[in-house]
Amino acid sequence: GATLGVIGGGQLGRMFVHAAQRMGYFTAVLDPDAESPAGRVSHHHIHTDYTDVDGLARLAGLAEAITTEFENVPAPSLENLAVARPVAPAAASVAIAQDRIREKAHFVRCGVACAPYAVIETAEQLAAVADDLLPGILKTARLGYDGKGQQRVATPAELAAAWEATGGVPCVLEKRLALDYECSVIVARGQDGQMVHFPPQRNLHRDGILAVTEVYPGNIPVGQAARAIESTRAIADGLGYVGVLCVEYFVLADGTMVVNEMAPRPHNSGHWSMDACDLSQFDLQVRTVAGLPLSTPRQHSPAVMLNLLGDLWFVDASDTTVEPPWADVLALPGVHLHLYGKTDARRGRKMGHLNITGPDIDTVRSTADFAAAVLGLPIPLSE
Ligand code: ATP
Ligand code: MG
Ligand code: MG
Repeated sequence: GATLGVIGGGQLGRMFVHAAQRMGYFTAVLDPDAESPAGRVSHHHIHTDYTDVDGLARLAGLAEAITTEFENVPAPSLENLAVARPVAPAAASVAIAQDRIREKAHFVRCGVACAPYAVIETAEQLAAVADDLLPGILKTARLGYDGKGQQRVATPAELAAAWEATGGVPCVLEKRLALDYECSVIVARGQDGQMVHFPPQRNLHRDGILAVTEVYPGNIPVGQAARAIESTRAIADGLGYVGVLCVEYFVLADGTMVVNEMAPRPHNSGHWSMDACDLSQFDLQVRTVAGLPLSTPRQHSPAVMLNLLGDLWFVDASDTTVEPPWADVLALPGVHLHLYGKTDARRGRKMGHLNITGPDIDTVRSTADFAAAVLGLPIPLSE
């Protein structure tokens, strides 16, 4: 059988491996961690650094096509692999997505509005920041995720201190917007430009980390959903993108929609597709990498996804961890438990998720509320 390769061994890589295996592929995972979630379930596991030339050569030797599961793969590593094998997404797309400055420039080029922002790479740019960007959020241009690398600032003095605290690395300052809600759209685009999309997801974040995703007819006003899909298609087309791409949006009280950021890979907000669609985002990732036809995923059930963070394993303020009461949530109808095989729970760490499906959104929501109560997650889930 053919082998597909993936750079990065986290949970997204693990779910890619599972989808690939179901279609008869062998897999090869490159990740420095010998115990990575994806590496543990893969046929081949190369544990070297992402820039290790020998490791990359081994991956290219094993795999007939290669994808990535996180955006911080050094783009030169992807370019190196692309000499020998098809790589999707391409280094050029990943290089844009992993740098907020280039990412925002791409959005603007595609005619999709961002939150007002300023690039801060020099002391001059810092001094020239317009007052109306405050209060704002200073985000490092590279390497942030789950709200890491972000600082809230209210005054020019706070901004200067925050930038200094980053060590003066390239950043963007974004105006802090009053959000009505957040949503995201996932598309899969093939080598030939064929593109399919999932229904837009409505997302709730807590402390900068995705907590809940809801997908059902009417989760988002129809016009706004259409706009988010159109914008996402334009962003993917503008990149000549091949693979699965997620774009996050903010919607303001007056209905204005602005793009936040993109992820050149399957996304946490698309995990619901594993149980509520006939094709998941990982199935489509396999197809884009393998050069197979795409078909539009059909949602067959309303869905609520609850993220399971490491905090759930801590019963009190001590460092003792206890496995949450899975049997009690699995006793509920339409509950699908996904755990990523991570052995050490840490606060804020993504350990798994629950997908809840059912005949209608009210039923799904009440099951989700029940599951949340059993696990000690904050209720109500929405807002
Ligand atoms: P991830 O990649 O894990 O989604 P990240 O670290 O790249 O997260 P962002 O997506 O930029 O971070 O921001 C995380 C969350 O913080 C957003 O989903 C939103 O809830 C809030 N946020 C970010 N920027 C703004 C803003 N300009 N105004 C208001 N809220 C914001
Ligand atoms: Mg991000
Ligand atoms: Mg984000």
